[in-house]
Amino acid sequence: MAIRILPPEVASKIAAGEVVERPASVVKELIENALDAAARHIAVELVGGGKRLIRVSDDGIGILSDEVELAFHRYATSKLSRIEDLHHITTLGFRGEALAAIAAVSHLTLITRAVGEPMGTRLHLEAGRVVQREAVGAPQGTVVSVENLFYNVPARLKFLKQESTERAHISALVSRYAMAYPHVRFVLTHGHQEVLHTTGSGDLRTVLSEVYGVETASQMIAIERPEEPPRSDLPPITVSGYVGLPNLNRSNRNQIVIFVNGRWVQDANLTYAIVQAYHTMLMVGRYPVAVVMITLPPEEVDVNVHPTKAEVRFRRPDAVFSAVQRAVRHTLVQHAGTAPIRAELVWGSPEWAARRERLAQVTGEHLRQMGIDLGVESPGQYTHQAASSEETKPASPTVRRRSLPPLRVVGQVGATYIVAEGPSGLYLIDQHAAHERVLYERFMAEHAAHSLATQELLEAVAVEVLPEQMTLIEENLEMLHAVGFLVEPFGRNAVRLRGVPALVAGSDPVGALLAALGEIECGEMPTGSTAEEKLIARVCKQAAVKAGQVLSHAEMEALIRQLEACQAPQTCPHGRPTMLHLSAEELARQFGRLGAI
Ligand code: ADP
Ligand code: MG
Repeated sequence: MAIRILPPEVASKIAAGEVVERPASVVKELIENALDAAARHIAVELVGGGKRLIRVSDDGIGILSDEVELAFHRYATSKLSRIEDLHHITTLGFRGEALAAIAAVSHLTLITRAVGEPMGTRLHLEAGRVVQREAVGAPQGTVVSVENLFYNVPARLKFLKQESTERAHISALVSRYAMAYPHVRFVLTHGHQEVLHTTGSGDLRTVLSEVYGVETASQMIAIERPEEPPRSDLPPITVSGYVGLPNLNRSNRNQIVIFVNGRWVQDANLTYAIVQAYHTMLMVGRYPVAVVMITLPPEEVDVNVHPTKAEVRFRRPDAVFSAVQRAVRHTLVQHAGTAPIRAELVWGSPEWAARRERLAQVTGEHLRQMGIDLGVESPGQYTHQAASSEETKPASPTVRRRSLPPLRVVGQVGATYIVAEGPSGLYLIDQHAAHERVLYERFMAEHAAHSLATQELLEAVAVEVLPEQMTLIEENLEMLHAVGFLVEPFGRNAVRLRGVPALVAGSDPVGALLAALGEIECGEMPTGSTAEEKLIARVCKQAAVKAGQVLSHAEMEALIRQLEACQAPQTCPHGRPTMLHLSAEELARQFGRLGAI
């Protein structure tokens, strides 16, 4: 094929693809333009998850009537004129690409009136071409309406997720800008429904309550600077914002939000710096909630790394990393009194001794009440015969072969593993993984038999959720009901939890619901049974006994018996092993007994 220059329509669509990936990208660019125009009030209206309409209105400085068309040219910007300007960017935009890109792939209407001009302008574009222009009366500021996004890029349109997913992305995005700009009043509506409304009072804590709910916000503390002498060799870096107390934690990193000079960025290193500051305060696999603002001289940051500007590069990344980590750590340590640190029971710790003491007092009477007869087992004897009735039955095709040998519980180590003895050696069982497997199989069996029991809570609990989670709950109400959660919308960003799956009723009901939501939120939801299975697996993980939980002998016995009854006792529902086996031969070999007399 001969080399040729692409026609402008093709080139502009390709270029648009870099900036505009989905409705949320449009909202991002339009909000950034409004903020750059010094708006104090930004309203975002959506219809159809932004696929039908996105309208962003601001009361900023507006666009001069004779520059309106120019704004839609590629590389047309008022924010930068010389290449040197790139080194100290103080605006969110500077590439002059967004309006051109958005207009190229939608039907766009702009109404704007600049400060000091008597009349406003209305401009309508289709696929980037101006089709209508007129003078109109309009308040100062700018309103951009984007309709039928990607109508002329069918490939993109096809890849858009369902309405609720796009909506959730936009809610999360607007929430982030609201936090970064507490002086600006943000209102987000979807159809007739108001999803988020901040006051613009300038107080970040107020915004946090508006975004996360009062209860969550009350568990967040303002970042305090450690007192250190200023260092002349380092750039002045300010770290501010709020971090959650350790007991406010999540199963993923999504609630760690970082801004650099007012720009939301995704930065794995800085996220790690924040997580690290919680070292030993959070359980493995749990992540904090944090809103961290980093301010530093513009020349210290390269914001021109990516068309969407969501990644930045620092001139001295180590200095920024350590400033963030020290500030967050210092803040947490200051509040150590209020932060319940994980009481991990490790061998030899005083807590461990106390628990063991208490467990030793568990009497035989207590165990019999639990329906467990430990007999008079002595080490080395296989006296456990609980499953013998099943074993003596003649093997028939309907009787499932036991996939685990009968195990005798010897004890617990590290408050995490159960040591058991079987006919062919020693078994170390991960109590959490094992319990997860047990709950999962019971859950799935009940689910398959359509007999999933729901346990109603004695008192309904109100649970605060994020706007984007609210959307997901509404969209997935049926599935949540199907697995046993009795939940209903309750006010703007809260739900009322009236019941939970009976199988997990013994544990923390709110935790179970939040775990389920976490799964819906993170998983790219496949439809049908797989989504439910994933949800169930997640809820079981949450409800299962944790590592670090001391179990009585009776509890361990019960768990092992239940594990024996499982179809696939060797792994947890996520595929990790539940147990390690050290065979009698291996033991003998290790002790040099093999062949010895
Ligand atoms: P950039 O923001 O990178 O400059 P855009 O394509 O987003 O590029 O916008 C082009 C120009 O249009 C901006 O530089 C600005 O002058 C003007 N503009 C866009 N949106 C607004 C707005 N909401 N208010 C005022 N001016 C705007
Ligand atoms: Mg812009």
